[in-house]
Amino acid sequence: MRAERIVLLTDLEREAEGTAVIEEERDTPEGIVLIADGRPLLITEGTQLTRPKREELESLDRLEELQTGLFVQYRGLWTEAGLVEVKELSAWTNSLDEREGSLYEKYQPVMLVPPEAEAGPVVLKVDKNRYTVLDDPELQLYVDRLGKQLLPNDSAGRLGHNFWFLVVVHERPQASAFPGGVVVIHTGLFELVDNEAQLAFAIAHEIAHVTQEHAWREYLYHRKKLLVLRWATAGLGYIVESAIQRGYQRDLEEQADRLALWYMARAGYDPREGIRFLRRLQENQQGLSALLWQTHRSYGSRVEAVMNELVRYSVQGLPYELLTRDSPEFAVLRERIPRAQIDAAVEQIVEQEQ
Ligand SMILES: [Zn+2]
Repeated sequence: MRAERIVLLTDLEREAEGTAVIEEERDTPEGIVLIADGRPLLITEGTQLTRPKREELESLDRLEELQTGLFVQYRGLWTEAGLVEVKELSAWTNSLDEREGSLYEKYQPVMLVPPEAEAGPVVLKVDKNRYTVLDDPELQLYVDRLGKQLLPNDSAGRLGHNFWFLVVVHERPQASAFPGGVVVIHTGLFELVDNEAQLAFAIAHEIAHVTQEHAWREYLYHRKKLLVLRWATAGLGYIVESAIQRGYQRDLEEQADRLALWYMARAGYDPREGIRFLRRLQENQQGLSALLWQTHRSYGSRVEAVMNELVRYSVQGLPYELLTRDSPEFAVLRERIPRAQIDAAVEQIVEQEQ
């Protein structure tokens, strides 16, 4: 009796499930391995292909048709080797819904450059959001290079995401990503990260929100809920905007964390720094960052979930001595961000807190 219970618990711990866009596929002697959801998903002869719940989706009939860019929903168990052996899987074509298309259009970035005669900052406009672009071409170039380095292999993706990384003057230490691929990194974020690897984690997390189409998925989730309640769906624009600025549903945030560790490790950064960064946020939950990084509610469980998986599977066997934590360039450029801005930011935060 007792032994049975232990087995049950162990199995529960090993369970993994989720929905994700396939980012890569590899043929291995054990079977096809899909890189999706920040996890290597092993497809074997024992994997059962099922139909997705939503009937309107164009689903796959044969496992051989699995390929990058498709959506998969899976359920499986972690193996000792650090793979998720998939028991059940459904997959469908990731076609661009008209409403999703309009979401991309809505968040097309526009750069407002002041006329030559007038001095003034360049302003980035994304829908109703306006950001002052930090006037430091070298830092902009640095961040753009860092961001592009973190992109997954098929970064253009089905939707032709056009990634663009920009540092904007904003006190709140966070970064945000818009559906089309614009990632804004607030100057305040440089105050919160200890090194380049942590900055890489924060940016990679935002990239994952884009590649995994989280804005659209958040929209669908709330739309369904509202329809069930027979409520009008007019407020959905607000819900998407609020998710972009303050955070998505928990499972989407966790997916972004997992993928961020994956992206950073692949780009040669030590993923343990990503965990340290999350821990910092957790420790500060009562203080500064609760207010600042509002995107990320419930750090405790979030860190734990990611930590467990990381320690157990994801980072096994990484060549840690070869991974990067920091660069001299990061320190130099960070120092250049006008001190006054950061100080003003911190002051404002303290005021809000009181
Ligand atoms: Zn997020």
